[in-house]
Amino acid sequence: MRRQSSRPSATGRFAPSPTGDLHFGSLLAAVASFLQARSCGGHWLVRIEDIDPPREVAGSARRILRDLQRFGMRPDLPVLFQSTRYAAYRAALGDLIDRGLAFQCGCSRADLPRSGVYPGTCRHGLPRGKRARTVRLRVPAQAVSFTDQVQGEVEENLEQTVGDFVLWRADDLPAYQLAVVVDDAYQQVTQVVRGADLLTSTARQIYLHRCLALPVPTYAHYPVVRGTDGQKLSKRLGSDPIASGEPARALEAALRFLGQCCPSGLDLDSLWRWAENNWRLSAVPREARTAVTPEPSESSKPFS
Ligand SMILES: [Zn+2]
Repeated sequence: MRRQSSRPSATGRFAPSPTGDLHFGSLLAAVASFLQARSCGGHWLVRIEDIDPPREVAGSARRILRDLQRFGMRPDLPVLFQSTRYAAYRAALGDLIDRGLAFQCGCSRADLPRSGVYPGTCRHGLPRGKRARTVRLRVPAQAVSFTDQVQGEVEENLEQTVGDFVLWRADDLPAYQLAVVVDDAYQQVTQVVRGADLLTSTARQIYLHRCLALPVPTYAHYPVVRGTDGQKLSKRLGSDPIASGEPARALEAALRFLGQCCPSGLDLDSLWRWAENNWRLSAVPREARTAVTPEPSESSKPFS
């Protein structure tokens, strides 16, 4: 239970999926959201997005939480596990269906065009012979626009980019977009700071917030980590667990990547003190300035 009287002015969150250990990419999300919340005098929360059991890696939620602690990042409220929140997702879904904003769709993957944009097949009722597989949100024919605090003005016409999108999956699980929006509102999150790989989800989430009459947080998307070969670091350093290295050096690399000119060689406590006093969201670059050179994870300086 949250006491209204102690509500902070701002609330940020880190919301990892337990699909692997904390790595450099997810460390950035934790550090950026933490420092932005702290610099506003706000709370920082952690939410484990464990609503996709097929993709989960056993033990990774526990290891992510342990690593956050090792880095000195402690959430201000108990960690929220999305697997405890199915009733809330179902209630939001029911509300959208009742109000005609969401509809049942009988299309399988094979029925959809290669573009991935839903053509509206079941918008006005299930075609004869089809049974409901998913539930989709009806999207408007006009653009959703927002000001991203790092990327600037963003505009997306959902009808053209994705079409009516899935809220409830064929395997009877809530879709990521629905769960995020319901929980950002439930946790009273006012600021979302995360990687630009999620920028393409933001217009959908904002539109969903509006459909559910929930307050819309602010958004800031820092650039995606790329290797020297220009590829997103999904396989090499970017997905190497950071558990083995020294936290201060990984934090230093994360701050540098986020455009913060921190001193070199500080110990973890001093580095946090510097970061909390000097964090500037306006210094975060729109695009990655430096590529990260993948090195073997046994290196003593994996993030130089
Ligand atoms: Zn359909």
